[in-house]
Amino acid sequence: MARYIDADKFYNNYSDKWGLEYEDTGEIDRVAFAISHAPTADVVEVKHGEWKRIECGTICTNCNRVYDNDFEFSYKQIKQYFKRCPDCGAKMDGGKANDL
Ligand SMILES: [Zn+2]
Repeated sequence: MARYIDADKFYNNYSDKWGLEYEDTGEIDRVAFAISHAPTADVVEVKHGEWKRIECGTICTNCNRVYDNDFEFSYKQIKQYFKRCPDCGAKMDGGKANDL
C-alpha cells in the first residue's frame, strides 16, 4: 500500500531537527533536491471535523453546515450514520489531523 507524505512538512521538520547538524555537509540541500524531484501522486487532503449539537441543530465543525434536528435528521441519526459531512466531506473523527 502506498504511503503519502506532506513534502513541505517533512522538509521543514527535517531541516528544523537536523539542519544545523548537517548544514556544513550539504545534506540539507541534497534532501531538498530529492524531495522537490520526487514523483508526486494525485491525492486529496483529508479534512477533519466533528458533529456538535447547537441550539438550532447539529453543526459540522469544518464547514459550519447546520442540520435542523427537527426537519432533517436528529443529532443521534447524524452521529450514527454520517461518518463524513455530506457537504464538505470532512471525516468526523473529532478533528484529529495527521500532523508530524
Ligand atoms: Zn462539513
